[in-house]
Amino acid sequence: MADPTPRNYLTESASIIRNHPEMSQSVQESSRSFDQRRADAYDQVDSQAWRTWAKAVKTHTLSNLDRYLEEAEAHLIQNGVHVHWAEDGQEAFTVLESVVAAHGVKRAVKAKSMLTEELGLNRFLEGLGVGIRETDLGEYIIQLLGEGPSHIVAPAIHRSLTDCQALFHRELGTPLDADPDQLAAAARAALREEFLSADLGVSGGNFLVAETGTLALVENEGNIRLSTSLPRVHVAFVGIEKLIPRLEDLSGFLQLVARAATGQPIGTFVSLIQGPRKADEPDGPEEVHVVLVDNGRSRLLAEEAAWEALRCIRCGACLNVCPVFRQTGGHAYGWAYSGPIGAILAPGLLGLEAAMPLPYASTLCGACADVCPVEIPIPDLILLWRERAVRDGLVPRAERFAMRVFGQAAKRPGLFSASGGLLRKVPLDFGSKALPVLSAWTETRGSLPRSPRLFRDLWKDGIK
Ligand code: SF4
Repeated sequence: MADPTPRNYLTESASIIRNHPEMSQSVQESSRSFDQRRADAYDQVDSQAWRTWAKAVKTHTLSNLDRYLEEAEAHLIQNGVHVHWAEDGQEAFTVLESVVAAHGVKRAVKAKSMLTEELGLNRFLEGLGVGIRETDLGEYIIQLLGEGPSHIVAPAIHRSLTDCQALFHRELGTPLDADPDQLAAAARAALREEFLSADLGVSGGNFLVAETGTLALVENEGNIRLSTSLPRVHVAFVGIEKLIPRLEDLSGFLQLVARAATGQPIGTFVSLIQGPRKADEPDGPEEVHVVLVDNGRSRLLAEEAAWEALRCIRCGACLNVCPVFRQTGGHAYGWAYSGPIGAILAPGLLGLEAAMPLPYASTLCGACADVCPVEIPIPDLILLWRERAVRDGLVPRAERFAMRVFGQAAKRPGLFSASGGLLRKVPLDFGSKALPVLSAWTETRGSLPRSPRLFRDLWKDGIK
């Protein structure tokens, strides 16, 4: 199978909608449920005050990122952590390869991390002959299925209970009608062996505190804690935008990310990693490495306005509320980050041409901005990338022509009114064949009931 790419977004999304309605249904049910829980959790606090505060802290940190990165590095080193800088995925892999060689690593366990998905780390480790096992339940499921994550927080959101029952029956021998608790128990038993035999634990990092060099990891299953404390060596890959200045900021972010992601007041497990095991401590790795990864982030930070996407704390709330994401889930986007945040991160990190047409995978309804805990103006950034796509000639010529014609008509009230009158004469009940240029729109939609009066006339009379 060809590597996923945003280029195939239109064909992949059409294929999922046509051929896999059960996936759309799973995504819709789960994302609505996540969103409801987020809304309830926001209602319990002064969420607007929290969001304003979080936006200010992240904006301040990103505006002084060089200083905070140096501060974090100094404290990590003081804590006994090996610090590495990686400009891109290749440099990150070079660090990993040296750790694998130095410790004779044969088996690794991995905590859920979107940055490692962005880098394609599993494939690299397998290429080195290292067996790698995902330990988050959702990631474990999709690894057994040979798939990538479909959602930032819920990687297997596109899969139903029936899918998981069939998978676990095949892979782990559970009954075909096993309930979720039985499935989780079977995964736990299988993963226990993996934790005990792994030489290396790989993780990401939700937050990195500059003033103390503390790496914070949030989860609900306990697998991150085991992945980062049982193996002899722990390597954490952390995007440089994950910095926060002070330890006291952490408590606010831990509560905010949990509320936005799953509607919890705080994640069930929060691991604060402060370096390798000390002489008098019974647990923990002998060696801890933190790889600070850029991979396009500095370039995005230098972009006027577009840099605001770097405030993202990967809660997934914008995906859950997005009417476009809900139709397909994340695989159609052809990249680690999907939904509204994928649409504004991809052009920044991959380059606009490689990210096309993701900035167009949006209705611009604005729901994403309403729920974002760090107030990223997602629709504005989508429009910004669309403007640049037009400027750079990345939009089909016919579409540019059509928008130019519309622009001219919209500037001339007489012409606009006459065009509206003409369009009203076009039959709308034409099915998918009568107007081939609109067939993609009409084939999944019924005819529209026509208003007896023009909007302009209603407006003139004063709309009730
Ligand atoms: S853009 Fe905002 S809502 Fe979306 S994942 Fe990032 S922080 Fe969450």
